[in-house]
Amino acid sequence: MTTWFNETLYKGFRQSHEIKKVLFEGKSKYQKVKVFESGRFGRVLALDGVVQCTEGDEFVYHEMLTHLPILAHGNVQSVLIVGGGDGGILEEVLKHKSIKRVTMVEIDGAVIEVAKKYLPKICGKAFSDKRTSLVVGDGAAWVRDTAERYDLVIVDRPDPVGPATVLFSKAFYDNCRRVMKPGAILVAQNGVPHMQGPELTDAIKLFQKIWAHSGTYLAVVPTYVCGFMSMTWACDRDITDVDPRKVFDRFDKAMLPKLNYYNPEIHFGAFALPNFVARLLPAPKAQKKAAAKKTR
Ligand code: SAM
Repeated sequence: MTTWFNETLYKGFRQSHEIKKVLFEGKSKYQKVKVFESGRFGRVLALDGVVQCTEGDEFVYHEMLTHLPILAHGNVQSVLIVGGGDGGILEEVLKHKSIKRVTMVEIDGAVIEVAKKYLPKICGKAFSDKRTSLVVGDGAAWVRDTAERYDLVIVDRPDPVGPATVLFSKAFYDNCRRVMKPGAILVAQNGVPHMQGPELTDAIKLFQKIWAHSGTYLAVVPTYVCGFMSMTWACDRDITDVDPRKVFDRFDKAMLPKLNYYNPEIHFGAFALPNFVARLLPAPKAQKKAAAKKTR
């Protein structure tokens, strides 16, 4: 008899993975952790019954949350990753030889241990890289207290439940801004607009209170079901306005190992939004100011 892993993310809709073999199942201080060999996507990591990543399609998410902001920035040397216990983001970031130090703050040490043991195809040797500083703790407390400053902050957060709720608060993003060097970029996963439209609107509204520029770009991650996944960004300059020749040139110079999703064409294509997604975004700050002047 076939056993299925059922994930009910949205009311009235669920997805199922065939479970070939359960490799790990346990309960940490924060959540239920499960790794299983699936029928179609290789090994799957689930936390509290929600798929976090799979060997079969993790490359889309992890490549797009790292290479796009790194190459848009052009001189990233220090990176902060909040969450990201599976090590997938860390592994992609470290592909850039120009990056000198990466701090990863993950609240649940159990996720890191499970990833090291069962998900080496996702994290590689990233946890033992000498540029990695691993902190087991709350990302919100880290950005509140640290004296470190970063060129890039990647918020690899799950949905807003449990300890991750703080990773959706204004106080957290105010403190993220505090730890960012001038010109630094912040990126975060923001769910699937087809099912989570208001969450995207709320994220951009929040970013607009803190940064001069923000927006979203898209990628399709098969196991984050229901179409495009949105990745939001914030910065004190417009990262969509970088000369494409610069990004192509930076990409050539980075000499990254073979990637499976990101390339400089996708970099710019990802900012093109279908109308229903564009309508979810509040007007940019500059547009709002102009509109306010007109009505005076
Ligand atoms: N790609 C993912 C998804 O499906 O949304 C997110 C993956 S990653 C495994 C998310 C991690 O964030 C989890 O390991 C979780 O323990 C961690 N996390 C949750 N709240 C956190 C917090 N306040 N500080 C640091 N890490 C946190």
